[in-house]
Amino acid sequence: MGVENQTNPRQLPPHVFVLFGATGDLAHRKLYPALFQLHRKGLLPDGVSILGTARTEFTHDAFRDEVHKALQSFVKEDISDNDWKGFAQRIYYIQGNVDNVEDFKKINQFVRELEQKRDHGGNRLFYLSMAPRFFAETALNLKASGLSDTKGWRRLIIEKPFGHDYESAAELNDQLGTAFEEDEIYRIDHYLGKEMVQNIEVIRFANSMFQPLWDNRSIQSIQITSSETVGVEERASYYEKSGALRDMVQNHMLQMVMMTAMEPPSRLHTEAIRDEKVKVLRSLRRYDVDEVKNHVIRGQYTAGQMNGKSVPGYLEEPGVAENSTTETFVAARLFIDNFRWAGVPFYIRTGKRMPVKSTEIVVQFRDMPKHLYFNQNGQLGPNLLVIRINPVEGMYMQMNVKRPGTENVVVPIAMEFSQSTDKSPEAYERLLHDAMIGDSTFFTRWDEVSLAWKFVDPIAQAFSEDKAPLHHYASGEWGPQASADLVREQGGIWWPVYGESTPSVETVLRGQEASTEVKF
Ligand code: NAP
Repeated sequence: MGVENQTNPRQLPPHVFVLFGATGDLAHRKLYPALFQLHRKGLLPDGVSILGTARTEFTHDAFRDEVHKALQSFVKEDISDNDWKGFAQRIYYIQGNVDNVEDFKKINQFVRELEQKRDHGGNRLFYLSMAPRFFAETALNLKASGLSDTKGWRRLIIEKPFGHDYESAAELNDQLGTAFEEDEIYRIDHYLGKEMVQNIEVIRFANSMFQPLWDNRSIQSIQITSSETVGVEERASYYEKSGALRDMVQNHMLQMVMMTAMEPPSRLHTEAIRDEKVKVLRSLRRYDVDEVKNHVIRGQYTAGQMNGKSVPGYLEEPGVAENSTTETFVAARLFIDNFRWAGVPFYIRTGKRMPVKSTEIVVQFRDMPKHLYFNQNGQLGPNLLVIRINPVEGMYMQMNVKRPGTENVVVPIAMEFSQSTDKSPEAYERLLHDAMIGDSTFFTRWDEVSLAWKFVDPIAQAFSEDKAPLHHYASGEWGPQASADLVREQGGIWWPVYGESTPSVETVLRGQEASTEVKF
């Protein structure tokens, strides 16, 4: 361990970071800013080099200029000359086509030369930031060219989507398996890099006040919302094939379900945590194709108003088939059939063109017996614990108290904690750091991916065979009416999420009719 490592225990091991898809959108918007932040924070030792590759021709210097422009567009803070110069010295580019094994040999030759110049320890980290159809071929060519044969460690980071269904995911996994071991494969789900998603475990397992309540005796239901305001934008060619189910539910939404529902791991060890997450998926009730319509709502946005502006419907978006039935919204009621969660509905919803962008988990506790206290409506609001993941990071608890100056009028109050998102590293920064250090806790293991597909496949089949109706909703609404009805079947409502009403009003109105605003 070098001197720098002794002063900064989080400093990363030396390696060559080989980025496939170096000219792409994700690389520009997320990966270069993340790598730059790691550099700026002093976490990258001298022996870390970044080698970009794609088909476009660039000299090393022209590519550095390209990266510089990306940083100027996508890094929030000012970039000092000093930081940039240090970062630029790490960056190289080799043109190559992943179809061509000879290009991999060229890259291999270059990496060897780099390794002789700087001490990279023979460690190689490959990041596939390109269309999924290239994943298998690239992994096989890494092996065939000798680029993945190295005296140090080698790791492969792979972007989503991992397959289109269980069968294609299994095939991809087999192909990757011929070149990399499971513990060398890091499947990205960037939600797992979000500060508050990682915090779910801490909130649950570091607070004695929640732990005894975290089961079907105390919890009425759990709701997980991940909403976007944007439409399909220029991603129609991808989205038409994926839809919200494959784009959001199979990965991000189920990951949040797992984090919320898992048993405490025996210790904070990667495999112990992943084992507990997988058990949730094993207990997740699967719906057969004919049952899907009873528990899953699919929707598609039509034209509407967003922030006072007219926006087109999904079918009018460029690149979308005129009779497309692709879902831009999914709501579902899930059940985890194990001892802890039997009977507790987990409602999830995700969609585009929603009124606000928000990701939140709302834990609704069971009602108190209602013979003692009521509010003015003769009701008592439930206790809620809200974990706010995006755009604000924090927690919110709703409790009931006596309204000051009254005899026994009960009103809901909010206890709110929010942390500055400026201090939280971006998800990609954290995940890159983890992969570099060899910590795969917040990457998805194959059994998670495969079980998630096995759950999703019958739903996708019901959608494609039209066995679950396609509902429509106007842009700017919270999905179709059927989504509200799904929750109402068990007497619930979708709780408002952050940004839906102003926080000050929200603090007293959660769970109440708007007309019952209470002012202290
Ligand atoms: P993109 O903008 O289309 O970039 C694709 C990259 O692949 C480009 O650098 C392209 O460069 C390179 N490429 C294409 N064909 C190639 C070939 N035959 N040989 C070598 N390089 C080739 O895609 P992206 O949006 O960055 O997405 C990359 C991955 O991240 C995808 O798996 C996507 O699903 C995932 N992802 C993206 C986002 C996002 O926000 N963009 C978010 C989540 C996940 P050349 O044309 O120069 O070869």
